[in-house]
Amino acid sequence: MTETASVTGETAPVTNWAGNITYTAKEVHRPRTLDALRAVVAGSVRARVLGSGHSFNAIAEPGPEGVLLSLSELPAGIDVDTAERTVRVSGGVRYAELARAVHRHGLALANMASLPHISVAGSVATGTHGSGVGNAPLAAAVREVELVVADGSVVRIARGDERFGGAVTSLGALGVVTALTLDLEPAYEVEQHVFTELPAAGLDLAGFEAVMGAAYSVSLFTDWGAPGFRQVWVKRRTDQPYAGFDRAAPATEAMHPVPGMPAVNCTAQFGVAGPWHERLPHFRAQFTPSSGDELQSEYLLPRASAIDALSALDAVRGAVAPVLQTCEIRAVAADEQWLSPAHGRDSVAVHFTWVADTAAVLPVVRRVEAALDAFGARPHWGKVFTVPPAVLRERYPQLGEFAALAAELDPSGTFANVFVRDVLAG
Ligand SMILES: Cc1cc2nc3c(=O)[nH]c(=O)nc-3n(C[C@H](O)[C@H](O)[C@H](O)COP(=O)(O)OP(=O)(O)OC[C@H]3O[C@@H](n4cnc5c(N)ncnc54)[C@H](O)[C@@H]3O)c2cc1C
Repeated sequence: MTETASVTGETAPVTNWAGNITYTAKEVHRPRTLDALRAVVAGSVRARVLGSGHSFNAIAEPGPEGVLLSLSELPAGIDVDTAERTVRVSGGVRYAELARAVHRHGLALANMASLPHISVAGSVATGTHGSGVGNAPLAAAVREVELVVADGSVVRIARGDERFGGAVTSLGALGVVTALTLDLEPAYEVEQHVFTELPAAGLDLAGFEAVMGAAYSVSLFTDWGAPGFRQVWVKRRTDQPYAGFDRAAPATEAMHPVPGMPAVNCTAQFGVAGPWHERLPHFRAQFTPSSGDELQSEYLLPRASAIDALSALDAVRGAVAPVLQTCEIRAVAADEQWLSPAHGRDSVAVHFTWVADTAAVLPVVRRVEAALDAFGARPHWGKVFTVPPAVLRERYPQLGEFAALAAELDPSGTFANVFVRDVLAG
């Protein structure tokens, strides 16, 4: 490896976006070529990739013996195939640049998360999702994964391969994802309408389904300080029918889902139609997403249990509200990735933006997990959780198959950090 092929030796500590994790890796490598990347991987005992660092736990941590790999110096490839309606995107690319490039070709992704700042590879690795009763997690768009595995060789796994179910939402445990090929569809426009104070009283499961299915993507926000939902964000595709939303009053000013944060950080509201990638995320690419000073947790459980689960959370609201900035409730359609939190079940996702105080938040996280235990809640892999490995094993029936795939592709355990070993230990 030459000096120009890879940039090494970070001097300042590297942290995640939230600042609650400082990586202990002995070295940080930023390879500039695929060959340099392959050489670093083949020469490392332990390695993990850091994407855009938007996870809130040690999932990307290689440990003090390992190297942290950043793909930020590799050439960023975004190759759109308009005839096939696909895009091949390299491993370090973020959704913001991907979406702009795809849109220029008159094409679109089916969905996006709340923010476009995150890397595609890191997002699909953790089961990242947006909202919509018909929208599966972002990994559902992936049709092929290209990996550099521990010996430095390149492996391609495409839809139809029996390994594909473990290859996308893989927690970064199989190797370095150097490229992904994603499905696209014709570009579409979205109108975003925000409503305030949706009452919870009398909302049964049919009513909840009607709210979440009112448009292409719907999010509810609450602070758990008082019953009901403070805000409802309704994202309507203009090429699909929309009967309106009359269960809550339209907002009279532009809103931010976190109280006290400026609405200018958010995508356009008041039903102004615009490109899909400028409406599906809540937060604009050039601005700080969410509050910027926070921890997050999230749990996915069967949507049929949504009302009972919200009641169970209501019973612990007194513990939750004091350490909460906002709570978002979304719908996520079932997918087939073995480790997807939405695997095999249409889900409701209950997300918590906490204050940035781990000591204060962790006991409340445990209360929330206890409240949601009866519903088989699966934690978001990229957020704060304490669900023990044995319970994860019960909640992921194909965890054993994933462990076998990891053993096949990474027999030396180069990519098996403490987080992954804990998960697989179940
Ligand atoms: C403000 C904010 C809002 C968020 N909103 C949402 C949301 O709406 N929906 C949702 O589901 N989640 C959301 N998240 C969580 C976020 O989507 C996940 O944490 C996601 O993993 C972030 O991607 P990343 O590249 O930053 O991942 P990182 O934290 O960098 O990495 C996550 C995992 O992916 C692996 N990885 C990354 N790149 C590669 C690669 N090229 N090859 C192999 N492994 C790789 C890492 O090793 C690690 O295991 C939000 C997070 C923040 C901070």
